[in-house]
Amino acid sequence: MQDVVEKVYEQVVARNRGEAEFHQAVREVLESLDPVIAKHPHYADNALLERIVEPERQIIFRVPWVDDAGTVHVNRGFRIEFNSALGPYKGGLRFHPSVNAGIIKFLGFEQIFKNALTNQGIGGGKGGADFDPHGRSEGEIMRFCQSFMTELARHIGPATDVPAGDIGVGGREIGYLFGQYKRLRNAYDAGVLTGKGLAWGGSLARTEATGYGTVLFAASMLATKGQSLEGKKVAVSGAGNVAIYAIEKAQQLGAVPITFSDSSGYVVDEAGVDLDLLKQVKEVERGRVKDYVERRPGARLVTKGRPWDVPVDVALPCATQNELDGDNAATLLRGGCAVVAEGANMPSTPEAVEAFQSAGILYAPGKASNAGGVATSALEMEQNAGRTRWDFATADAKLTAIMADIHDSCVAAAEEYGRPGDYVLGANAAGFTRVADVMIAHGIV
Ligand code: NDP
Repeated sequence: MQDVVEKVYEQVVARNRGEAEFHQAVREVLESLDPVIAKHPHYADNALLERIVEPERQIIFRVPWVDDAGTVHVNRGFRIEFNSALGPYKGGLRFHPSVNAGIIKFLGFEQIFKNALTNQGIGGGKGGADFDPHGRSEGEIMRFCQSFMTELARHIGPATDVPAGDIGVGGREIGYLFGQYKRLRNAYDAGVLTGKGLAWGGSLARTEATGYGTVLFAASMLATKGQSLEGKKVAVSGAGNVAIYAIEKAQQLGAVPITFSDSSGYVVDEAGVDLDLLKQVKEVERGRVKDYVERRPGARLVTKGRPWDVPVDVALPCATQNELDGDNAATLLRGGCAVVAEGANMPSTPEAVEAFQSAGILYAPGKASNAGGVATSALEMEQNAGRTRWDFATADAKLTAIMADIHDSCVAAAEEYGRPGDYVLGANAAGFTRVADVMIAHGIV
């Protein structure tokens, strides 16, 4: 990295001790920006890099709640309002026991550039809590969401900060959060949260958007080589919102997804995933992947290793950060994998990214390939503001157009900075310059 960029990175590490995921996300972006800063030195002036790596506001709060047995629990809640140059802070809420300040900061930082890539006037933020929803009753989930929103409500609003879902936060949780917000504010601010139910301000295609967008991005990358997804074998990780709809879109485009996973292991179904059964197990019954295997002849559950051990043409990591390391990347490459599109945020470790790029395969970082979710959230905000509702085809067509535009912006930026086909550089450079130009216009704020 150039000295000026290296210095910013060192300051981030010193100021945010122990926040390994945040350091990793910052490093990846700053490394990419070397050619951008070299070509446009004014971006390093006025401490623009120093400002972009520092959240505008960090909110950390106590979330007390009572379980069904009457025991009091205390979790920690976060909302990191990272950058509002382009619009209200926008980004999901994650409920998972691993959540800490560094994880929420890495997600919020990534969100700045992802949201800029969508070109929809949304800033970057992220939040969540170290709450583990697994095994909790409906009543416990509801009471936790209500306590979480009791504090969060004072910080958010349709023109200020608009949270959505992420790991552990789906339509059910957004419902409880919205109900509590409405009660506290005495206002039906539909645009304060996205990922809402269709009967109360949600957008058609939002549920599908992240997974669909990831696969559309993979298809766009393949198209640059005159190829398609037709007949390609696909490994997917995760079995949540993103994974399920990545599988659905891959199947629609003629590919054959053969794996999915959760934290208990991964499933290999060589005949191709039975999507109806997977949705029944995961979305309706909230079960585990073993429940799928028990009802699906020929499918097997593997409790050691990762889906990346299975030879495939395309890999779609859709579970969580750092779930695909250098060894996994080497295994995938040996098995013939030629396309990786990230549905999750930062699922590939730096060693894995290096391996994919050295091998010259098509590799899309999450901030580009999984931007369909937040893009459709912005479409939901647009419908809420206009008090209107589009049909599925309209929302889906807009999502498809946005993903194509993000792909083309990445390709163009990678070419402009001298590394054609480098989607990491392309995504970071295109996202960064959009935000940086506006930050300069707004002055030192
Ligand atoms: P869900 O909660 O719906 O599903 C997450 C899935 O990943 C579950 O199958 C879960 O298994 C698995 N998983 C989570 N953490 C771990 C872990 N530490 N080890 C192994 N498996 C794990 O979340 P989403 O599908 O919404 O999110 C998945 C990824 O996509 C995340 O990285 C998220 O940030 C990213 N993303 C999501 C967007 C969205 O619109 N929802 C938008 C853009 C990115 P288990 O249930 O066993 O924990």
